[in-house]
Amino acid sequence: MSFLNKIFGRGKNDAVDKANKSAPAESPLIVPRDQHTLSRSQVSPQALKVLYGLKDAGFEAYLVGGCVRDLLLGFEPKDFDVATDASPEQVHKIFKKSRLIGRRFKLVHVGFGRDVIEVATFRAPPEAEQHIDQQGRIMRDNVFGTLEQDAWRRDFTINALYYNIRDFSIVDYTGGIADLQAGKIKLIGDVETRYREDPVRILRALRFVGKLSLTLDGETETHIAALAKLLLDIPAARLFDEVLKLYLSGKAVETHQLLVKYGVFAYLFPESARLIAAAPDSIVARLLTRALENTDKRIQEGKPVTPAFLFAAILWGPTSERWLRYQNNKIPTIPALQKAANEVISEQVQRVAVPKRFTLVTRDIWLLQIRLTMRQGKRGFRLLTHPKFRAGYDFLLLRADAGEPFEELAQWWTDFQFAEESEQQKMVNGLAPEPKNKKKRRRRRKPAAKKVADAPVVDKA
Ligand code: ATP
Ligand code: MG
Repeated sequence: MSFLNKIFGRGKNDAVDKANKSAPAESPLIVPRDQHTLSRSQVSPQALKVLYGLKDAGFEAYLVGGCVRDLLLGFEPKDFDVATDASPEQVHKIFKKSRLIGRRFKLVHVGFGRDVIEVATFRAPPEAEQHIDQQGRIMRDNVFGTLEQDAWRRDFTINALYYNIRDFSIVDYTGGIADLQAGKIKLIGDVETRYREDPVRILRALRFVGKLSLTLDGETETHIAALAKLLLDIPAARLFDEVLKLYLSGKAVETHQLLVKYGVFAYLFPESARLIAAAPDSIVARLLTRALENTDKRIQEGKPVTPAFLFAAILWGPTSERWLRYQNNKIPTIPALQKAANEVISEQVQRVAVPKRFTLVTRDIWLLQIRLTMRQGKRGFRLLTHPKFRAGYDFLLLRADAGEPFEELAQWWTDFQFAEESEQQKMVNGLAPEPKNKKKRRRRRKPAAKKVADAPVVDKA
């Protein structure tokens, strides 16, 4: 991969040859400052302050993880992580604006507001059996260690590169530089053990493939399908965090394809995965792809994206399937959709804990699909003021785009929104009258026996 060559500014590098031949190296590969392209000017001022603060207090300080990897690859890092030999308490003492966080492993967050720099003390690998459960999962790993130990306990070789603030060199214990040059994502150590220790590494591996356009190294790839089921043991809250990272990376289309290809999607969204596997070219599959394309585009344009919309798209398959089934079972259209939505969401959040503030909006987006078909009288006007109108309308466009028969309805709403009021009134007047409901006979005495006699009728656009 040509863009990797620029890691090294000048010609051939003996140390890299050595790492290529004998990774993992016993002693680290050290790439001096003049032989790589990572420069201080690319590092955020806050991160530099933290690095120098630690150094000036007599400690070791390194940038590590995704930021080093991304800078060497020419991407802008999402955040800057610092590793040090100072204990969390010592770090906290050095920086006034800092706080200790974390239960499983203590970390320090320096600086508040938008730019938080996470500072972690070098960590030792989990000490053999006592911290490992029956599945091989790490239960506790809070033992401080050396830089070398810290490198080996990390997930992938390309995530274990350290930028030393003392001499601006890059320190590589695990062969990360060579793998970065080869464009390989490779787990450190025994692959099966490392996936078992923390199955979320499966999601991370696929996320990095999607996001960085690298490829999975042999065993790092081959064990995924067989071990993906271990994701069932991961708490739903953690899976929610990971799902957001997977789908909001700006490369959701690629990443989603990888999740499907390796059978991982089924452990995150079982119902949706079942439908997509049964009919990969179906309307709901297309709708999801379109939604992901839009998400990527919005992220690239720096526009906000709401997870609620993403989940509305991912879960529309199972929801619309049930909606139809319930309507066929004579449940009126609105209660049928409400029932379908409630069931799908409550089953799904047990797997991926989407917080209520998002699922409420997801539900709104779905229910608006009915309301958008009811435009007569004042309804159309009222709907424009609905707080989630825009999301509901966007979702309708998506459905039309994916092949549902809503082209005309979507166009009507597009025109209606931007028309003058008099024009809007004309548009409403021009609508075909809603099919009349059968006349109700007023019964004064008896309370209504059937509550749902007058289900709203969905007009066909
Ligand atoms: P990005 O921030 O771009 O998503 P990242 O690699 O920085 O990618 P983080 O979650 O910020 O990901 O983690 C920072 C670093 O911590 C990683 O690069 C890796 O070295 C280490 N790390 C994170 N998660 C794990 C894990 N599950 N197992 C081992 N090491 C991990
Ligand atoms: Mg990071």
